[in-house]
Amino acid sequence: MDSGREGASGDGVADAKSEPGSPAAGLKRALILLGPPGAGKGTQAREVAKVYGVPHLSTGDMFREHVAQGTELGRRAKPIMESGQLVPDEIVLGMVQERVARPDCAAGCVFDGFPRTLAQAERLEAILGGIPGLAGRSLAVNLAVDAEEVVRRIASRRTCRKCGAIYNTGGRMPRVPGVCDVCGGEVIQRPDDREEVVRQRLAAYEQQTRPLVDYYRKHGRLIELDGSRDISTVQRDLFAALERAG
Ligand code: ADP
Ligand code: ADP
Ligand code: ZN
Repeated sequence: MDSGREGASGDGVADAKSEPGSPAAGLKRALILLGPPGAGKGTQAREVAKVYGVPHLSTGDMFREHVAQGTELGRRAKPIMESGQLVPDEIVLGMVQERVARPDCAAGCVFDGFPRTLAQAERLEAILGGIPGLAGRSLAVNLAVDAEEVVRRIASRRTCRKCGAIYNTGGRMPRVPGVCDVCGGEVIQRPDDREEVVRQRLAAYEQQTRPLVDYYRKHGRLIELDGSRDISTVQRDLFAALERAG
């Protein structure tokens, strides 16, 4: 969770009881947040996961954890992340396959930053096919934000080193400077949020990830949102769209 100042409860979303499709009824989907770096995927994914009580699966957070712990996977991923390129599919897929097979994903999960290539999207469908309750239940949400705005957002992003909570210098900063509201961890600027790396990450997005928008549209599994509006407006539309999708 982030600072919580724009938490879902303020919108009454968390108060919905057990209407079909409401948070209390469970997500029962593999929700996929698409959009360029800085679009707001993590911010929205954390809120959906909290309200529906399902895991938030950020492959970026998972890699950063591996890097912090100095695992073999972390050692392989670190230089690739620092250069702004994508980690090879087989590494990402092995990690996701293991995670999504755990029982806490059976009622649904929210993917953030995954899939990022067509191969990952296709493999995800195969993986979900083996999970009762999630087979054929993927749904992608594209947060459309133009390049200028994502560059601005990334420059102002600050992130908790420990729990991944997302802040920004434009008004959503921790109560105590540099200290995460959620876990007390250190709030920093991600090394790959520096301008030189951001350009490469945006190029990787355009070449490898943007085609997924068409992929999910073609399969009738796409919700398109204008992600350029403020956090609570995007959040309200996202929850409404999820309820409609059932
Ligand atoms: P952002 O939130 O800015 O979109 P992430 O935290 O999702 O960034 O990802 C950070 C980095 O981790 C990426 O630039 C990439 O190197 C790596 N990464 C994360 N998810 C994936 C993925 N699904 N496939 C390949 N690389 C990934
Ligand atoms: P992503 O996961 O897509 O890379 P984040 O959720 O980390 O994006 O958001 C990037 C930065 O932009 C963060 O500092 C976040 O606080 C901020 N942010 C997210 N959504 C919005 C929004 N709708 N309007 C303004 N700033 C936003
Ligand atoms: Zn934290």
